[in-house]
Amino acid sequence: MANRDGEIRSPKQWQKVFVNRSLNMESIKAIGFDMDHTLCMYNSERFEELAFHETLKKFFAAGYPEALLSLKFDPSFLIRGLLVDRERGNVLKVDGHKYVKIAYHGHRKLTKAERYTHYNRDSFKAESFLSVDTLFALSEVQIFMEIVEYMERHPGEILKTYTEVYSDLRYFIDLSHRDGTIKNKVLESPETFILKDKYLAKTLLNLKDTGKSLFLLTNSNWAYTQNIMTYLLDNQIEDLPSWRDYFDWVIVGAGKPGFFMGVQPFFEVMTESGLFKYHEGALQKNAVYHGGSARLFQGITGFGGDEILYVGDHIFGDIMQSKDRLNWRTLLIIEELERELSKVDEQKSSLKEIHLLMEQRELHESEIQKIVSIMKSNSRHRDKAEEKGDTKKAQHLQKENDKLREELKESKRKVEDVDSLISNSIKDREALIHPTWGELMKVGLERSRFANQMSSFACMYTSRVSNLRYYNPNKKFTSYYEALPHDAQ
Ligand SMILES: [Mg+2]
Repeated sequence: MANRDGEIRSPKQWQKVFVNRSLNMESIKAIGFDMDHTLCMYNSERFEELAFHETLKKFFAAGYPEALLSLKFDPSFLIRGLLVDRERGNVLKVDGHKYVKIAYHGHRKLTKAERYTHYNRDSFKAESFLSVDTLFALSEVQIFMEIVEYMERHPGEILKTYTEVYSDLRYFIDLSHRDGTIKNKVLESPETFILKDKYLAKTLLNLKDTGKSLFLLTNSNWAYTQNIMTYLLDNQIEDLPSWRDYFDWVIVGAGKPGFFMGVQPFFEVMTESGLFKYHEGALQKNAVYHGGSARLFQGITGFGGDEILYVGDHIFGDIMQSKDRLNWRTLLIIEELERELSKVDEQKSSLKEIHLLMEQRELHESEIQKIVSIMKSNSRHRDKAEEKGDTKKAQHLQKENDKLREELKESKRKVEDVDSLISNSIKDREALIHPTWGELMKVGLERSRFANQMSSFACMYTSRVSNLRYYNPNKKFTSYYEALPHDAQ
């Protein structure tokens, strides 16, 4: 069915809101939104390419080889959810059981033996690695991998450890943010770097009209926030000429995840000058605040943790902390779903094939088991027959076992054949989505670490904020079913 704008009202698979934990929207009184990569979608390729080259310029200025300036940005080199081993110069994809399944050192893929020696032999401590939690980190981690690769190819040119290189990298990135190298370029030409979602304004208005309070909670500073939000929302709807009209409260420079942990005070931002003034008491609806904390926010507004829904893209900074410490309800934005789910959809039949092959494999395995146990029994009877001097019986049993040995070989060969069919099908499926790292949520057929975190901390997830327009703002989102192994067998 189409609505007044001629838009089809039922979401496609990659536009759905998926539910990990049931959530009745009627009990939600306030909805908070992160800005970057949540309300504001970036053209990641262009944004990350800009960050990539601007950061490399800083490396060169600090005395690193000039050759680094000609490194190429590859938007498909990395994905979210990976871990960075700063000490060894590796990037890892880990499954939900903390097993390192794929790893790269620069551009070189680590062998199974290397992964075992470095990571899988002992219990894996994910917390000692850096987690790629946001799309903003993709260029940062690629720079690291490119420099690792450069150091491998040109030994002796960069006399630093990988850890030191990473700490330089962090410093240069922070510097780029502080001196406005990147953000100024975005603001100079927002249409190049920002993807404007034509349904965003209506989606927010729809939520607001149900009587819910909306607030903006971003780590970005006032000047940047003001410019971006103006670009996204000003003059989109006649009754709401300014982006400020959508939000009851605006909190910038929030310093998440610290915002969810401490009890820092709010400062009022003098919007003309950008100066701050210490703030006490109720938050005014037409004011802008800097800093603050979730506890103070709840105290002032009177909302309980479970009456607030927070929408963000950063699994640690936005979702884990707000859910874990304050019981805020959470909606995680996973932009990648848009691309991945449309491809996974095409691959549904291949998943069925893989499961059929796995069933076949099991049949061959039990055949093998049966043969082995008959052979063992035959050997025992043959030995006894020999003891008793019954040569004829012993010879017969030996012949039988020789025949079975051939059958065993044949069954083992069948298992190998099915194994290679399975692994090729998995590889094909993964390659279609991402040739190096596969699906964001999976490693082979297992859940990835990212998927595990996501399902533990995000009540719901979707690919973009405006997907909410497909649902009644007071909908009871229900998590119907989380299959456990005994449900599927
Ligand atoms: Mg964000």
